[in-house]
Amino acid sequence: MMLLDLACADCIIEQVDKEGEKTFDGTSIPTPFEQVNNNGIYEFTCLKGHKAKTVIDNVHFEILFEYGLNAIVDGYYRESVSSLTSAMERYFEFFIKTTLRTSKIDFELINKSWKKISNQSERQLGAYIMLYLQAFREEPLLLNPNSEIPFRNKVIHKGYIPTKEETIKFANSVMKIIEESLLKLKSKYPNEIFETFDHYGYKKKAKEDIEKSEKESGIEQSIMLVNIMTTIDVKNGREKNPKDGRKGKVEERIINIKERREPRSLILLKDKTK
Ligand SMILES: [Zn+2]
Repeated sequence: MMLLDLACADCIIEQVDKEGEKTFDGTSIPTPFEQVNNNGIYEFTCLKGHKAKTVIDNVHFEILFEYGLNAIVDGYYRESVSSLTSAMERYFEFFIKTTLRTSKIDFELINKSWKKISNQSERQLGAYIMLYLQAFREEPLLLNPNSEIPFRNKVIHKGYIPTKEETIKFANSVMKIIEESLLKLKSKYPNEIFETFDHYGYKKKAKEDIEKSEKESGIEQSIMLVNIMTTIDVKNGREKNPKDGRKGKVEERIINIKERREPRSLILLKDKTK
């Protein structure tokens, strides 16, 4: 099962407030794990009993892709193909909105036009191909129409249960399609990509919802913001650091995901209190 490593704001505040002797005191804080949800807001009781609320600073397609990889680890190959396909489609949406943003179009207007194609993935694909061509003067990498598309359709529409090998192969294709495009998008439009990320990421909507509930209840809440390090990652991509643990193709990612499911705790390094 895919679990996110979260953090409890109160635990961290408690730890920071503690007096320390050493310059760097590596102190353990229990890492809360939660199952993935759709809105990016995670409410839980931490191991020390604090009622915690954590928001993840990610965008939906990053989590969908990771969810697809976790489904392979769990042996749910049909579900993996379905999540990976959704991750790719939601990436296309992210790409389209980012490139439109480069023409200084308001998000409000982008949303209005998007609504007209929001239920038609073929139209979205068409927009992606054309905007990609305009941005990079070449065709984007897509699923192979003779093998990968029939495979996906057989899984999603006809109930076919794929093998692990077929699923990993499909996952590698989807990963390449998204990542190659995303790397180009990052290097060509570094500002617009973050504007789009912040506008459509979980954080903005979560912040609005939390502020509304604080206003209604009159109770201020300590909220923790955590960036989940996903394989496909807009803000903290694995390409930045050659020693990044998220390296490699899907086969390597599966090994890494399994390792990360072993019990771990968060280490907080703090400066000596003067
Ligand atoms: Zn806590």
